[in-house]
Amino acid sequence: MQHFTPAEMRYIEDCYEDFLKEIRNKFDHERLARIEKAFRFANAAHDGIRRKSGEPYIIHPIAVAKIVAKDIGLGATSIVAAILHDVVEDTEYRLSDIESMFGEKVARIVDGLTKLSGDIDSRQALTLKKMLMTLSEDVRVILIKIADRLHNMQTLDSMPANKKLKIAGETLSLYVPLAYRLGLYTIKTELEELSFKYKQPEEYNQIIYLLHNQEEKRNYLVNEFIKPIKEKLSAEKFSCEVTHRLKSSYSIWQKMQKKGVSFNEIYDILAIRIVIKPNPEISEKRQCFDVLSIVTDIYKPKPDRIRDWINLPKVNGYESLHVTVMGPHGKWVEVQIRTERMDEIANRGFASHHRYKDISTFENELETWIERIRDQLKNPDSDAFEFLDDFKLNLIGADINVFTPKGKMVSIAQGSTVIDFAYEIHSELGNKCIGAKINNKLVPLSHMLQNGDQVEVLTSKNQTPKLEWLKFTTSGKARAKIKDTFKLEKNRHIENGRIIIEEAIQKAGASLTSNNLKKLIGHFNLNNKDQLYSQVGMGFLELNEVNDILGRISENKLIKYWNITFGGRKKEESIEDVKDETTTNHKNKIDRKKPFVLRENQNDVTFSMAKCCNPIPGDKVMGYLRSDDHVIIHKTECEVLAKYLLNQGEKIVSAEWTKFKKQSYLTRLLLEGFDRMGIVNQVTNIISNENNINMRSVQFDTNDGIFRGELFLYIHNTDDLNNLIAQLKKIKGIENVSRIKSLYD
Ligand code: MN
Repeated sequence: MQHFTPAEMRYIEDCYEDFLKEIRNKFDHERLARIEKAFRFANAAHDGIRRKSGEPYIIHPIAVAKIVAKDIGLGATSIVAAILHDVVEDTEYRLSDIESMFGEKVARIVDGLTKLSGDIDSRQALTLKKMLMTLSEDVRVILIKIADRLHNMQTLDSMPANKKLKIAGETLSLYVPLAYRLGLYTIKTELEELSFKYKQPEEYNQIIYLLHNQEEKRNYLVNEFIKPIKEKLSAEKFSCEVTHRLKSSYSIWQKMQKKGVSFNEIYDILAIRIVIKPNPEISEKRQCFDVLSIVTDIYKPKPDRIRDWINLPKVNGYESLHVTVMGPHGKWVEVQIRTERMDEIANRGFASHHRYKDISTFENELETWIERIRDQLKNPDSDAFEFLDDFKLNLIGADINVFTPKGKMVSIAQGSTVIDFAYEIHSELGNKCIGAKINNKLVPLSHMLQNGDQVEVLTSKNQTPKLEWLKFTTSGKARAKIKDTFKLEKNRHIENGRIIIEEAIQKAGASLTSNNLKKLIGHFNLNNKDQLYSQVGMGFLELNEVNDILGRISENKLIKYWNITFGGRKKEESIEDVKDETTTNHKNKIDRKKPFVLRENQNDVTFSMAKCCNPIPGDKVMGYLRSDDHVIIHKTECEVLAKYLLNQGEKIVSAEWTKFKKQSYLTRLLLEGFDRMGIVNQVTNIISNENNINMRSVQFDTNDGIFRGELFLYIHNTDDLNNLIAQLKKIKGIENVSRIKSLYD
């Protein structure tokens, strides 16, 4: 091992001295002695080892410890752990050595940090998973890790170009969101700036140049702007520091991209910050609002641009009052008002909460957040990179606070929809959710929540999770639950249906052959076995006629096969027609002179509903007679039927319904009207409770007070349907109820 030169050793001591200056008067003698011991130990352990830059390695842990102490504000244990953070990873010493010298607490943190280190190129998602697992154990591990990353970013220059890019990318996607979530605003901004600088040096330099160019003009504006504010504040005996801060170049660039605007079009590059040294006699909130009132007396506020993070702090603990006002020269200027305490929390996050003793609230919220991330980690469906995207969405998008009807506050990721919220509260609430009332306005499941919304989830006992919901759910919890229940439900229905069908077949004295199953599938116009099972399992099809179905159709297997193959298609009839041309001459059992009578228990001839117009029993219909004596039922107004009438008139039979009570048919209804409180509940109540009708899906939308609902219902016949429509039309606010011909858009 090559020892350091005397000059290098002096340099190390100087760096350590600098660091000590930062912490000396913050810690007692005993703590300083522990820190000193850690430094001596680490210094000896890393002796002779250099970083890529050529600097002695120990400079790095000292710098990390300095960030931990100064920028994050952690205590002696964390500082000791920071100094030792690379010892186990990079030297001969083991964790047991650390434990015997510095105790169990320090050893545990160092262990956590060691586990997180390793190849920087390793898969980000994996690193992230590890980090989040650690996060739940001890937040300090993550805080020190972030400090470690900050120093690595500050010294990134000595890395080869490709490593620079990788590290910068990783910083942006992992460490920035984490730092944000932990409330380390200053560090988050610095990490962003550094990542931006290395990832996009040209854009970065351009923006730095433009900012520098405007500096003189900006300083002039700032002074002009704050002068009257300062005067008024001191006249009112407020003790305040009025400063300004610039938007970071990364945020500027991001905004330019997002809004497609140029640098000069960004009006909030500058923000004025008023930090109040509060009068202990008066509440901090009160003083902030008093200052707000002084500012808006001088400058006109922009409507809707007052952001109150004091009554409703951000989930990372941020409190502040933001207002955008019209400054001199017609420029919008953002003013941020906060107390010293709020300012420190805004800049340093986590540790400041500790100092101000509101740590438990913050930890509780952090715990909820970690819980959510953990749920996401458990989701076996998401692959690592998909997960990473979801995670970033959850992190960067920040959190919003919404309220339950009873006023309980719930933190939820920004971009969450009604369905996310419902699942956040309880999975049953999610499963049964049909919409919500937000601030007493009716909204659909897909509605995106806003900060401060009061959300009342509306449910229906007949509701079940729908795969479509995945299109507008963002939270891992909701997604996992929807997928789970769907799998579970589907399998349960299929299993139920299988049992019912097997019993029915046996009862009919037939055998369980795939041929017999095919007959049933064909009879009900379905596509496959699973569909048959699940339809029966869900109770949509009843099997009272198995005897007839199995006994009857065996005569022409070929045509039955055709029926199965094309059963789901609109053009099934015309395909059959081509066949008919060549295979006619069979004996029709149907007397075409008389109306074809449609019965629920039909003996001789089977029939099925055409997919093009979806008739239900009771509709005015005609039948198209296929060569196998199977009749396809069309509504009289159907266009497909009209074509048949034109060129194959001889195959059309008139048809008459008898009473249909058992089987039900999918029907699509459109509801329109004026949005009103409780309207959704009333609609679903009439359908499911009063009429006992099964709903396949319901979707409600409101737009500017206009209410629109789309319902897919299982209906026995037109009597039931007309009855239902009449009842729905009576609901106050409903203007129109109509049946939609096609089941598909
Ligand atoms: Mn390190």
